[in-house]
Amino acid sequence: MPNRQAVVFTDLDATLLDHHNYTWSTAAPALKQLAERSVPVCICTSKTVAEIRVLRRAMGNDAPFAAENGGVVAVPHGYFDTGADHDGDSVELTTLGLPYDELVALARRLQQTHGYRYTGFADLDVADVMAATGLDAAAAADARRRHASEPLLWEDSAAAEIDFSRRVAEAGFTTRRGGRFVHLLGHADKSDALDWLRARFEAVYGPILAIALGDSANDAGMLAAADIGYWVARPDGSYQEKASGSIRHAPGIGPAGWAGAIASLIEHREI
Ligand SMILES: [Mg+2]
Repeated sequence: MPNRQAVVFTDLDATLLDHHNYTWSTAAPALKQLAERSVPVCICTSKTVAEIRVLRRAMGNDAPFAAENGGVVAVPHGYFDTGADHDGDSVELTTLGLPYDELVALARRLQQTHGYRYTGFADLDVADVMAATGLDAAAAADARRRHASEPLLWEDSAAAEIDFSRRVAEAGFTTRRGGRFVHLLGHADKSDALDWLRARFEAVYGPILAIALGDSANDAGMLAAADIGYWVARPDGSYQEKASGSIRHAPGIGPAGWAGAIASLIEHREI
């Protein structure tokens, strides 16, 4: 049997959650097997803390997690105090990226100076977010509670976006395109969240076996930072990158691949 505590770090969309119906039912038996082995499953996603809270509660997950692409990490109060009870719902947040206020200030400054056409989440109300995203009222409200990234509803040209992204980079920040939004964020990445959480786990357990699963480009750093990384297949059956070194291909799409990867780790007594 392995002698290192295993910890799973996982993306949500199109990885643990099905791309089409947003459910994790295919992976539920694998989650149960991990729980039986006391292997924590730490969610690392672009979603907000408020959005993840809803999902964790539904999944019965009480592990630490990372939101907004690693810009903020959350640890349940008492989680790392051995012997202490902890409540998965009450979490301590640490911002690894840049504080939200600074991002909003930069977005407004660049708009005033250069006349780009976009509207940030800070300037959208819940009804606007519902209209722009298709989320229901509760989910739209959760998506507006932000800590380390600002989605801008882009209303300008592609050329203006290139120009905007260049100015953002000059200011020391990053942009990332996602659907109709250009996300403005600091330099934190999911790999930073994994490193930060690894240090917290290792202070308690000693060296851990970090296993990371993801499906797309913003998971690459997290998979590389883990001891074992898995690409799950994308909805069309292809993989984001080749398997190489410590990075493997999970045998299937999204949550089916996720479950297959966990089954393989258990079968080969790696966890
Ligand atoms: Mg994904």
